[in-house]
Amino acid sequence: MKEIITVKDVTFTYEEATEPALRGVSLAVQEGEFLAVLGHNGSGKSTLAKLLNALYIPTEGHVTVCGFDTQDDDHLWDVRQQAGMIFQNPDNQIVATVVREDVAFGLENLAVPHAEMVQRIDEALAAVRMTDFAAAPPHMLSGGQKQRVAIAGILAMQPRVIIADEATAMLDPSGRREVLSTIRRLNREKGITVVWITHYMEEAAQADRVIVMNHGQVALTGAPREIFEQTAQLREMHLDVPHMTDLAQDLRAEGMPLPAGILTVDEMTEEVCKLLCQSR
Ligand code: ADP
Ligand code: MG
Repeated sequence: MKEIITVKDVTFTYEEATEPALRGVSLAVQEGEFLAVLGHNGSGKSTLAKLLNALYIPTEGHVTVCGFDTQDDDHLWDVRQQAGMIFQNPDNQIVATVVREDVAFGLENLAVPHAEMVQRIDEALAAVRMTDFAAAPPHMLSGGQKQRVAIAGILAMQPRVIIADEATAMLDPSGRREVLSTIRRLNREKGITVVWITHYMEEAAQADRVIVMNHGQVALTGAPREIFEQTAQLREMHLDVPHMTDLAQDLRAEGMPLPAGILTVDEMTEEVCKLLCQSR
């Protein structure tokens, strides 16, 4: 596997802040990976996201995206085109009065020829399954649909990485599911690398790998199963575990011999069925 993002000894201090928001952060993201980033409020997730997209430049250390060091002014636009970002509030990301024009917006800055532009917009809308809404006014859409339009706008730029900063936080459960499943499909089918910042443990459980931020540092990193076994450390950092992990621990405490590492409803169902079969 190849590293697509490298963060090396990064410290970032906001102007006029007395303490750095990030301190000595090092991490790598592999091409094609789906990485979730967890952490309580103020732990530095959004600051990290903006450093990965060259919206912020490290105070110390280096961020490299697709081979470009964000300290190098000459490649800022390359970084922003290669690593597209979606934010929490879908309404703040919509700039046009028609869905199609909104998806076109980023391309106008890239000076893409008209015929190619039309093709890229069509493909991007199809990829997020919003083709039928191309001529719709965005304010008519649900939150989940607006986020899918925002994703289409990024896809049209043909990025290799998508960074999502709590992109589902303002959505209802069905909107949350549709946005996450859209991103997961783009990761699987197009090989787009995803950095998925979230405070939903169930979402992080679906990632290839999880990073937990705490006080501006990387506190834990590992596969979801490894991370969510560390219940005590997570609670100390004001984080939960997925509901099914929690339930499995309670049931184990009551004497039910469930294995460690249960994250999802499907896994819980499977393990409970196994126990029932054995006791018959
Ligand atoms: P998270 O996204 O995990 O909630 P942030 O990256 O937004 O965390 O914030 C990390 C730290 O930086 C916090 O202490 C926060 O108060 C501070 N911070 C965030 N944005 C700014 C800003 N624009 N100016 C000064 N301090 C900020
Ligand atoms: Mg944030």
